[in-house]
Amino acid sequence: MAILLGSIADDYTGASDLANTLTKNGLRTVQTVGIPDPALALPDVDAVVVSLKIRSVPASDAVAAAASADRWLRQRGAGHVLYKICSTFDSTDAGNIGPVTEALSDAAGGGGVLVTPAFPETGRTVYLGHLFVGGQPLNESPLKDHPLNPMHDANLVRVLTRQSRNAVGLIDLTTIAAGSGAVKARLDALSTAGITAVIADAIFERDLETLGEVALETPVSTGASGLGLGLARALVRSGRISSDGATTADAIRPVGGLSAIVAGSCSKATLHQLDIAERSMPVLRLDPERLLAGPDEIAAAISWAGDRISAGPVVIAASAAPETVSRLQSLHGREASGHAIETATSIITAELVERGVRRLVVAGGETSGAAVDRLAIPAFLIGPEIAPGVPVLRTVGNAQGDMLLALKSGNFGGEDFFTAALAMMR
Ligand code: ADP
Repeated sequence: MAILLGSIADDYTGASDLANTLTKNGLRTVQTVGIPDPALALPDVDAVVVSLKIRSVPASDAVAAAASADRWLRQRGAGHVLYKICSTFDSTDAGNIGPVTEALSDAAGGGGVLVTPAFPETGRTVYLGHLFVGGQPLNESPLKDHPLNPMHDANLVRVLTRQSRNAVGLIDLTTIAAGSGAVKARLDALSTAGITAVIADAIFERDLETLGEVALETPVSTGASGLGLGLARALVRSGRISSDGATTADAIRPVGGLSAIVAGSCSKATLHQLDIAERSMPVLRLDPERLLAGPDEIAAAISWAGDRISAGPVVIAASAAPETVSRLQSLHGREASGHAIETATSIITAELVERGVRRLVVAGGETSGAAVDRLAIPAFLIGPEIAPGVPVLRTVGNAQGDMLLALKSGNFGGEDFFTAALAMMR
């Protein structure tokens, strides 16, 4: 079955957010980890999100990786490809939003590309080309102090012009309120005038639905999960989606096997979820100093799990309270200690899978990324949400056979998240 919608995401967490948004809006969606192997067998899906890490790499590298992902998607029938960027337009004067957008347009034979980071659900709106984050213009929001991509200008036409070869256009809210015909006419006129990237205003979801409808008739668009929502709803309205309500239920078909929870997030929510889990499951609190000292703590954790796991789910956590984390960081450095612990938790995760774990919850964004990389899982089919923003994932093309996973960023989920997740993963 041909893919109806392709997407190239500039980072992994953004890809997950988009894949979840597409699923919630009616598309059966797979998220790949990196550019997939040509031989990857996809289930029947409407949309594929290729997760890359190209937000902050040199522009030429981002263009090359996006071009390769684009070819993979087009070969599988994708008629439209969304370049998924951050809803705060994270980029610099060197790129990568402008160069990648223009390269994808060139590869598709040219033409205007609608660009909007608007995502009203998370407070990102665009008016007269200016991006607002909650109630603040981008340049007054916390993004002005971002360590990699500080954003000092809320005028996205100016921001994108500085990183583009061609002039950049604007489609304002009045035109969008006039409907898809007016937007299409304006996009065509700008394209004829030699403009590729066109910033589009959007304040409400209905604006994104209009933009999605127009974008679907073009080969490329650039935006955040909000534009994904618009594209998904336009596809559903067009009657081209064949999947029915069974879409996400199918993703959580039982896989059997053992179950485990691995936590590396030190967020307040995760620490509380661990305390709650302790009432119903065995929980091992790793000693971070010993983890950094060598492999003994990992071996001890595996042996601890081995004695208990056949009786039910076990929890292994590196997570610690802020005082403990700061002490470790001041001794070993923030980056080095974080990275070493991620490596340790990913090794423990892989060992658990080796011993038969097929239902796995990982708490922590970076911790999850490290675990998925080590397990070398090529792709996921997105299932129903356990908590807002955290769906159950079913592996696609996994060497160890089908697994169900829940990958949770720090502050997500209610206090009983771990039991709620395992209840949906059979
Ligand atoms: P979150 O989603 O809450 O930000 P992440 O997994 O992204 O969680 O980040 C948590 C970081 O903290 C990881 O790099 C992890 O390795 C590190 N970490 C985990 N436990 C400890 C600890 N006890 N001391 C210091 N750092 C830790």
